[in-house]
Amino acid sequence: MTQIFIALFGLGAIWMALDPDKRLHKWAPLVGLAGQPFWAAFAWETQGWGLAALVVAYTAVYARGAWVQWEARRWLWRKFGTPSETQCHGCGREMTRDEAFHYVTHCERCEGLYMQAMEDAA
Ligand SMILES: [Zn+2]
Repeated sequence: MTQIFIALFGLGAIWMALDPDKRLHKWAPLVGLAGQPFWAAFAWETQGWGLAALVVAYTAVYARGAWVQWEARRWLWRKFGTPSETQCHGCGREMTRDEAFHYVTHCERCEGLYMQAMEDAA
């Protein structure tokens, strides 16, 4: 039974991640994460400690995917304000919260670049 869920969630995650429909992409890491408890149970049952290490690695990769896909950083910016690095490279003006939220890369005062915004956009 455990292995059925492992197959379902694992294959589902890959299916969604590789699907041409981009709307499915952000669900892939969540489906992958949903399968991790079953992987962990399987590793525990079989005493497969190498497998257990892989479960940790896969969980980290899926968690990163979920973070990226759901734009957690943008959410954090909106909630807590912008980080201090988001200054204009030209005039040093601090990026406004609204600019950060909209991924503005150019300073409208001097046409300089926000370095942090550039890195995030890349
Ligand atoms: Zn500027």
